[in-house]
Amino acid sequence: MAKLKLENINKIYPNGFQAVYDFNLEINEGEFIVLVGPSGCGKSTTLRMIAGLEDISSGNFFANNRLANSLTPKERGVAMVFQSYALYPHLSVYENLAFGLNLQALDEDLIEEKVFHIAGVLGLSEYLDRKPRELSGGQRQRVAVGRAIIRKADVFLMDEPLSNLDAKQRVTMRSEIIDLHRKVGSTTVYVTHDQVEAMTMADRIVVLKDGYIQAVGTPEELYFKPVNAFVAGFIGEPPMNFIDSILESNVVKFTKANVMLNLLDEFPILKEHSEILFGFRPEAITIGHLPGEKMLYLEAVVELTELLGDTANIYANIGDHNIILKVEPYDIPKIGSRCKFSVPYESIYLFDKITGRTLNL
Ligand code: ATP
Repeated sequence: MAKLKLENINKIYPNGFQAVYDFNLEINEGEFIVLVGPSGCGKSTTLRMIAGLEDISSGNFFANNRLANSLTPKERGVAMVFQSYALYPHLSVYENLAFGLNLQALDEDLIEEKVFHIAGVLGLSEYLDRKPRELSGGQRQRVAVGRAIIRKADVFLMDEPLSNLDAKQRVTMRSEIIDLHRKVGSTTVYVTHDQVEAMTMADRIVVLKDGYIQAVGTPEELYFKPVNAFVAGFIGEPPMNFIDSILESNVVKFTKANVMLNLLDEFPILKEHSEILFGFRPEAITIGHLPGEKMLYLEAVVELTELLGDTANIYANIGDHNIILKVEPYDIPKIGSRCKFSVPYESIYLFDKITGRTLNL
């Protein structure tokens, strides 16, 4: 078990490019942390610095309260699973799983016991004699995960381990990794660009953009109380609707529609913040006029509808603002119709357009 601390970590690559800026995070023992963000935001670089595969340009990295900047990956007691799961093609699944243990010169019986155990946990028992080429992508990925966790590392580092799997396999492996984490309890840092993986797997999520931490929090905190427009737009699918608005004389005016809203009772901090983003999540709405004082009513013209099975997405316009609404499949309005919908005040988010910061209390 390990506790990790990253303190004012910066990474400047030899070509002068700074990939990570002032990264601060304390990771508790046994915690499952997910680093998430768009391509190039510095997730892998951060993970590789934790692993000891990449130098830390400045700042301190502590493992169990001990400065660990200059420890080798082996000395840090980490096990890594990469995006490309390089299995040894000429070795069987059994031999691939046993590889690291053989290097440790463990007793044959003990190795066999461990391999059988891990293979059982990961549903690989019947494939132990096969070569990697005789396995499906998902099975190969499980061998790669098994090879990493068989060593009982203090820390697991996973860099997009599910990226080569199809959608169904991803869902299965997601719950297998969560289950494994529950059983093994090792501190885990997991990198993905997929916000659904982050939301479903993490104890806490770290959202990164352009090398900067945007937010750290539980999935619930990031979903319900996003600190800025980037986090609000990144977490949730379809993304939050943002409507460019002007705040004038304490009234929110949509810039490209004839809509004015007086929200002051709910947002007492609003002053003369001229340019703002008015946000609400596609799934926070209900079609029609719901009664209630704390409701806001809006109307949009339906452009396109998309039935997904259990839900449907409605692409619509309020004036010249494009929005998406997520509705029940039996609630789909007709294309071209005017669709009235209700948004509870508590589901409204306002952001400063310039800084992106939340204006919600
Ligand atoms: P992805 O999701 O695409 O893997 P990421 O968030 O993991 O992205 P990193 O791989 O950490 O991003 O890269 C962060 C930034 O650092 C990128 O702009 C990348 O081009 C740059 N970078 C990565 N490795 C190097 C290197 N060796 N030298 C210079 N720049 C690098």
